[in-house]
Amino acid sequence: MATQTYVLQCLPLLPLKTQNPKKQCHLFKQKQRKLVVSKLRAAVIGGGPAGSSAAEALATGGVETFLFERSPATAKPCGGAIPLCMLGEFSIPSHLIDRRVTDMRIVSPSNVVVDLAKTLKPHEFVAMLRREVLDSFLRQRAESSGATLLKALVTNLVVPTSSREPYVIHYTMDNCQRQLAVDVVIGADGANSRVAKSIKAGNYATAIAFQERITLPEDKMGYYENLAEMYLGNDVSPDFYAWVFPKCDHVAVGTGTTCSKAHIKSLQLGIKARARSKIEGGRVIKVEAHPIPQHPRPIRVCGRVALVGDAAGYVTKCSGEGIYFAAKSGRMCGEAIVKASEGGENMINEYDLKREYLRKWDDKYFTTFKFLDVLQKVFYGNNAAREALVELCGDEYVQRMTFDSYFYKKLASGNRWEDAKMAINTISSLVRCNFLGREMEASAQKILSRV
Ligand SMILES: Cc1cc2nc3c(=O)[nH]c(=O)nc-3n(C[C@H](O)[C@H](O)[C@H](O)COP(=O)(O)OP(=O)(O)OC[C@H]3O[C@@H](n4cnc5c(N)ncnc54)[C@H](O)[C@@H]3O)c2cc1C
Repeated sequence: MATQTYVLQCLPLLPLKTQNPKKQCHLFKQKQRKLVVSKLRAAVIGGGPAGSSAAEALATGGVETFLFERSPATAKPCGGAIPLCMLGEFSIPSHLIDRRVTDMRIVSPSNVVVDLAKTLKPHEFVAMLRREVLDSFLRQRAESSGATLLKALVTNLVVPTSSREPYVIHYTMDNCQRQLAVDVVIGADGANSRVAKSIKAGNYATAIAFQERITLPEDKMGYYENLAEMYLGNDVSPDFYAWVFPKCDHVAVGTGTTCSKAHIKSLQLGIKARARSKIEGGRVIKVEAHPIPQHPRPIRVCGRVALVGDAAGYVTKCSGEGIYFAAKSGRMCGEAIVKASEGGENMINEYDLKREYLRKWDDKYFTTFKFLDVLQKVFYGNNAAREALVELCGDEYVQRMTFDSYFYKKLASGNRWEDAKMAINTISSLVRCNFLGREMEASAQKILSRV
């Protein structure tokens, strides 16, 4: 049994009965400002996809769960594109989807356009959702599984000095400072994670992503009905891509960079210039920016604290995808705690978290993350390499392999002969485009020197 006695300086406004009727035999006993806890208690900080999925798994598995979210009404800056497998795996109802993107184009620095959707099967599409809609759905589901949702800002996490003491969460709710003592903490509080700082998890490099939401005249919105565009080039990003994504009643136009953050606004002007003819006459309704982690943190588990989602650094290079990995890591971490504590009956330790969560996560995804990291380094570094990437994207085998990996989140098993052809094509595209690139740069310099 997770039997610990916690003294709370200020009792939180929490129901003394758990909401899950199955857990009614494990009520807290309140006695002279002391709580005797008979079940493992977990705090999940952050109610994005990572936190809600963690809280749902914990509560379903019998752990007393508190989910903290500071601003449930607002939307996290995000493109909102999720892969097909997430809809089934996380039972996302289809009415939450704003757009089913079946047309995708990639545009090279010299404006060569390649249709990326040539091999899509009739049931395949990229789902576009508004984050406010997705996040509030996932939070509600965590609540109905038995988690207690606290609309509160966590201001501090006090780490105990011994393995027998609780973690104390300091938070502000209804303009009142409160505290809550728990056995286990999941940090799902995004790229600026306070939990990560409290456990000295170390830093990661971040990119900055900048995005404008733009309402377009009807005919222009019609053009983007089921179409998403990706733009490559030094003018829009020196190390990432820029995008025009369709949303419910507007388009999201944005870009990201790690190495040129100070110039993010001029890069944004770059993408708006490249897409000008298609977005002209539009009205900007929102401007937003947010950091995107570039690699996992040096420490993701410390004591009885685990980091998930952006807080842990789980965003893939190349695509900047993080929603699925946030939800998946949250769920895996929640399930790991349930398993190690045998449904909330036993105390857990750092070794349990490392064995049941971290090792399983790394076994499943380390290679995918590394592979995309290498691809980004090879193809996003200069305009010549970007031209080669766009040329390669025209190949149907490359498209099938890319979408199989993206949609279904497993490394697609290819055909040896086609793989060999793809490798040769990659090398020859790079060689050709590097050569052409250098020639183009040389002739541009000649022209400039004559002016
Ligand atoms: C502009 C942009 C576009 C993107 N587009 C896509 C895309 O199209 N597809 C994709 O897959 N990924 C995309 N991403 C990445 C994706 O948004 C993240 O990877 C994903 O949101 C991570 O989810 P999370 O739950 O880990 O963190 P978050 O979504 O950041 O959620 C963290 C939550 O914690 C809360 N919180 C933080 N601190 C506290 C605190 N102290 N107390 C209480 N609550 C707190 C926040 O309010 C927030 O709700 C994009 C990112 C950006 C910036």
